[in-house]
Amino acid sequence: MVGSVRLLVVQPTPFCNLDCDYCYLPDRGDRSRLSFPVLEAAVERVLDSPYFGGEFTLLWHAGEPLMAPIAFYDEATERIRQLLARRGLPPSKIVQSLQTNATVIDAAWCHCFERNGIHVGVSMDGPAFLHYAHRVTRTGLPGDQIRPKDPKSRRAGVLSVRGRARAAQAGPPPGTGRHGHLLW
Ligand code: SF4
Repeated sequence: MVGSVRLLVVQPTPFCNLDCDYCYLPDRGDRSRLSFPVLEAAVERVLDSPYFGGEFTLLWHAGEPLMAPIAFYDEATERIRQLLARRGLPPSKIVQSLQTNATVIDAAWCHCFERNGIHVGVSMDGPAFLHYAHRVTRTGLPGDQIRPKDPKSRRAGVLSVRGRARAAQAGPPPGTGRHGHLLW
């Protein structure tokens, strides 16, 4: 028996700003970006499918989704909203989620996540000494070398680890995960 579609994985760009030694993605140096007509066609295909179960998650994933600019997610969200509206469906029918290495998250990104209702997952290998053992930049430096330098931005990044972009404007993150503290 076949169930309904619950997840649509979409690659906004193959490019990644890191070069982890265990990465399996062959095209992570490719800076091309998904076009909006292709995004709309993919979403329409799911909505038209007999396996559309009323709602699904659209996951932005692989390479590093935040290598597409904030404006990309603003427009993608608006296009998805309009597409659903044309079918008489509310925006809640498609939940956006995003999987990131979190190296460039700052307050502006957190605001983007919040206004577009994007859930955030962060890929981590463990505490910093493990995490950056294999997560390196393209010049071989530890991946934290390209994180935002501004402390406020870094604090916003920690908040995103909690998956609570809504808290982007709050103070220090109470109860932030231990690994989050170590990474940022
Ligand atoms: S962060 Fe992810 S996509 Fe980027 S190089 Fe590392 S494993 Fe690959």
